Amino acid sequence: MKVNVKEEKCIGCGSCISLTDGNIFDFNDEGLAFVNKQPSTNEECEAAQNAITYCPTAAIEDIKEDE
Ligand code: SF4
Repeated sequence: MKVNVKEEKCIGCGSCISLTDGNIFDFNDEGLAFVNKQPSTNEECEAAQNAITYCPTAAIEDIKEDE
């Protein structure tokens, strides 16, 4: 999977950051989430999937590319 945060939809709640233990998402200078590191392990992908599910504004998307 490959995640992306649609910045225009993010409200900076921080849910994605806590759900992924700060491994994948972080806040930018404007207090909005961005992808700091793409998930690679199964655990990280699961956590990222949770972040997608629980983001209150559906700002996170999986933009997995065909390989
Ligand atoms: Fe932004 Fe969604 Fe992350 Fe909250 S969970 S900080 S709204 S991307």
